[in-house]
Amino acid sequence: MQLVLASGNKGKLREFQAMSEIPIVPFGEVIEPLEIVEDGETFAANALIKARAIYERLGSGHIVIADDSGISVPVLGGEPGIYSARYAGADATDKENLYKLIDGLKDAGLERTPAYYTAAIAIASEWGEYVVHGWMHGDVIAEARGDKGFGYDPMFIPEGYERTLGELEESVKKRLSHRSKALALAVPIIEVLKGRGL
Ligand code: IMP
Repeated sequence: MQLVLASGNKGKLREFQAMSEIPIVPFGEVIEPLEIVEDGETFAANALIKARAIYERLGSGHIVIADDSGISVPVLGGEPGIYSARYAGADATDKENLYKLIDGLKDAGLERTPAYYTAAIAIASEWGEYVVHGWMHGDVIAEARGDKGFGYDPMFIPEGYERTLGELEESVKKRLSHRSKALALAVPIIEVLKGRGL
């Protein structure tokens, strides 16, 4: 039984690996690169599209995990939501996406407003498909502060704090993050599925 991550992102691989005793292989090590069209309307749908696409190539004997995540700002109609990674365009950098959201807040005359990160983790296996979620709530501000984390972190202040994730110690984010919470739910499912294959 092989546990495969449907992502080539080294940071994600490290985060997944740190949560689980089970060795995880990035999909690039077991199959040729493939184009996956993420055209779902939710984080869960897009995570499942990724997990399914890789599982269909690999078949039984594998458990495939995939994640999809982003930030939503209710006052802006939930933007950027599932478009977080390509908010400022298909090839946009994290910084371009960050400043597009900052400009969006400024255009709306907002200095600070509630927001939340979502992470969906999908698991595809011969024993079925599973999706779990994690959320981190807080506020976004119309400026970037600090250089820790990535993506929208310099403008995100977690609930109960006054500094952004760009300024806070990374251990704080690890404890609070949407991805950690989703992972904590995914790990026991993976353990059960892994046990079935033994
Ligand atoms: P994904 O790799 O398709 O899940 O894209 C997630 C996108 O959402 C990233 O490019 C970031 O812009 C944003 N995002 C997701 N999680 C975080 C986070 O923990 N901090 C900052 N930005 C995040």
